[in-house]
Amino acid sequence: SQVGHTTDSYHRDELPIAQGKAKIIRELQRNPVTILVGETGSGKTTQIPQYILEAGISGGKCIAITQPRRVAATSLAARVAMEQGVSLGTSVGYSIRFDEHCSPNTKIKFITDGMLVRELMSDKYLSNYGVIIIDEAHERTLRTDVLLASLKQILRRRNGSSQGHDQSQDPLKVVVMSATLDAQGFSNFFDSIKPIYVKGRQHDVHIFHTLTSQPDFVEAALRTFFQIHTSNNPGDVLIFLPGQEEIENLNSSIRFYARQLPQGVMPVLVYPMYSSLHPSQQSKVFMRTPHGSRKCILATNIAETSITIPGIKYIIDTGKCKERRYVAREAGSGVDTLLTRDISRSSAMQRAGRAGREGEGFCFRLFPKQAFDSMAPTLEPEIRRCDLTAMILELKSLDLDIERLDFMDKPDEDAVYSGLTTLSILGAIDKHQNLTGAGKKMAALPVDPKFSRAILASEELGCSQEVIDIVSVLSVSSRLFLGVQNDDSNVVGTRDKFKHPSGDHCTILNAFRAYQEVVSSGTYGEATSWCARNFLNARALSEAVEIRRQLRGICKRIGINTDLSCSGQVQPIIHCLVLGLVQNAAFIQPNGFYKQVMGPSVVKIHPGSVVAQTHHPAIVYDELVFTTQTYVRGVSIVTKAEISNVFSSISGRF
Ligand code: ADP
Ligand code: MG
Repeated sequence: SQVGHTTDSYHRDELPIAQGKAKIIRELQRNPVTILVGETGSGKTTQIPQYILEAGISGGKCIAITQPRRVAATSLAARVAMEQGVSLGTSVGYSIRFDEHCSPNTKIKFITDGMLVRELMSDKYLSNYGVIIIDEAHERTLRTDVLLASLKQILRRRNGSSQGHDQSQDPLKVVVMSATLDAQGFSNFFDSIKPIYVKGRQHDVHIFHTLTSQPDFVEAALRTFFQIHTSNNPGDVLIFLPGQEEIENLNSSIRFYARQLPQGVMPVLVYPMYSSLHPSQQSKVFMRTPHGSRKCILATNIAETSITIPGIKYIIDTGKCKERRYVAREAGSGVDTLLTRDISRSSAMQRAGRAGREGEGFCFRLFPKQAFDSMAPTLEPEIRRCDLTAMILELKSLDLDIERLDFMDKPDEDAVYSGLTTLSILGAIDKHQNLTGAGKKMAALPVDPKFSRAILASEELGCSQEVIDIVSVLSVSSRLFLGVQNDDSNVVGTRDKFKHPSGDHCTILNAFRAYQEVVSSGTYGEATSWCARNFLNARALSEAVEIRRQLRGICKRIGINTDLSCSGQVQPIIHCLVLGLVQNAAFIQPNGFYKQVMGPSVVKIHPGSVVAQTHHPAIVYDELVFTTQTYVRGVSIVTKAEISNVFSSISGRF
């Protein structure tokens, strides 16, 4: 097969799914629920919504197609808009948190599963939609499971035949799509309906394992890549890595070594691909590889099933992924952390399969065969391993009771208990676990409940401008500061210019304010070069501006005054943060480490924090990071008295 298939070299009718088109349409017409299983790349995501539209199955209403990841929603929407010959945001659009490209005439809408759950809040029967497609259902994200449970109820309300039917409602169709063959769970969940299977094109993939395990898998991936590359055989390379950090590291290493290759070795084009990547960056991976060069894509598990990249002949699989997992704490509360872990066997097979789409391929696994054999067959669904606080809040505001919903898998009991505890600490629910007035507002804000609590408090404390700004920048904070390489290739801190003595929250506020000043007084180009000079990510900042605009809009709609400023005072801001982050408080110990107030862990301040070098009696933090040790990131200095005061004021709630 050739390197660099172009987007135009393939036609809709040539996709594997096209052969089953008539049958699929017939099944969709006949049944309220359809389960469709098909190999990655067969055409499910791009074609099914178009089939439904063209066959008039949605009754003139909009078709929603859910995606677990933002980057998949935006790039697939762009693809389908192109196939339909319309511009994005007209009849084909997308909706992801803080970014919506739709119109009242949108007929095919790619939407993250989380956003569709939010739509339930204003439209509990999802009556705007004629068909809802749950895509990538095998991933079993928290929101996918919530949607599946809600859809089961909505189907009864909208489709009738039994009690509970609401005559005023139009019927609804549901399509569940999955890339893994094991569809039994979905079938059981929906009254044993039989799945439809679509065969994909799959050529042989030769799989190689390392003899020993590779603790430094980024280094191993680098070596393997250059072995492939210097062989000079044509074909693009896709490397699976756990997360953005490893991707950016390998990205710079490959670029660095590629510059030193002898003449005669073809040039390399490296493209990262991860969830928080800006839409304008995404489309590059689909572009034609110029003749005589090689494309190398560095991806998270997003490229496992969500996104099919053409032209891949070689896979390098580190065997790792990031998994969101709930870390229990003593006091009946918990927190989610991203942990790097071994992938499942099913993922390893999906990853290898990416090399065999257009011809014979090769997969280099950076782990031994025994490691493959001992992998878990699949990963646990998120509802069994994630923090459920935000989900419980969402369900409560939908008047749904988590204990009574018919889930595919029951939520973890400890996580339910701890989520309820957190919600009462934050004041979102009362003694009887009913939503409070504050809780209703918190549910309406599309940010973590910790931060919606801080926003709510900011109105009382007269600093809503500042706190909304901080929360907006927090959404992009992992990408805000650009690293500078020093001689040891270590990333040195670049945030000193904006450093605020109280910690990271006011530091990012300073950076954001400085940026806004430059933007309001200068041109776009000036703002960009100002960012570069100050080692700030201009794109992340412009996203934060947009997030801020939307957050302020939602706040106004639910009656929060967004224009209160504490004009340079820090105390009110910190107090709001303490109210939201009180469960993330830690006190210093004689050895300089910090001990969690509500948990067993002893933690260190992440070296990237502006207060990492100094000691303070008490801190609050945004998140835990596990590497060689447990770090906390996003830190502000507080006093022990502030923490105790908050604890005693909430103790009456139990
Ligand atoms: P499935 O959902 O079954 O995995 P898709 O509908 O996502 O399959 O993809 C079908 C085909 O469309 C694949 O061969 C893929 O390479 C191609 N494709 C999808 N999106 C793009 C894009 N943005 N640019 C080019 N090709 C694309
Ligand atoms: Mg798909």
